[in-house]
Amino acid sequence: MSTTEAELHCEVCNQLTDHELHYTGRLLDSVRCTRCGTHVELSSRALIPAYAMDLEHRLVSKPRRMMRRIARDPVGYLRQLPGSALRQPRKFLNEFRELLRR
Ligand SMILES: [Zn+2]
Repeated sequence: MSTTEAELHCEVCNQLTDHELHYTGRLLDSVRCTRCGTHVELSSRALIPAYAMDLEHRLVSKPRRMMRRIARDPVGYLRQLPGSALRQPRKFLNEFRELLRR
């Protein structure tokens, strides 16, 4: 999860206000108005396919098969990797878990 700020039009305040933009990976996940606190959550149903596509994009040089393997058997997948390769897949898996927990 990462957060940035941007000035957006708030429906409740009916003016431009500072908003916190919450990201999962590179995708916008939710938006919060810092003036009135209105929180807009993007549907996780809509987010997951978009996220999966984004993930595939990031792993474009690697076979699709690998992603299916990760989804089916994450622990087995991580075990077979050398330590230096662990960081990225683990990051992806953590992002996926964060999405699926909702
Ligand atoms: Zn507002």
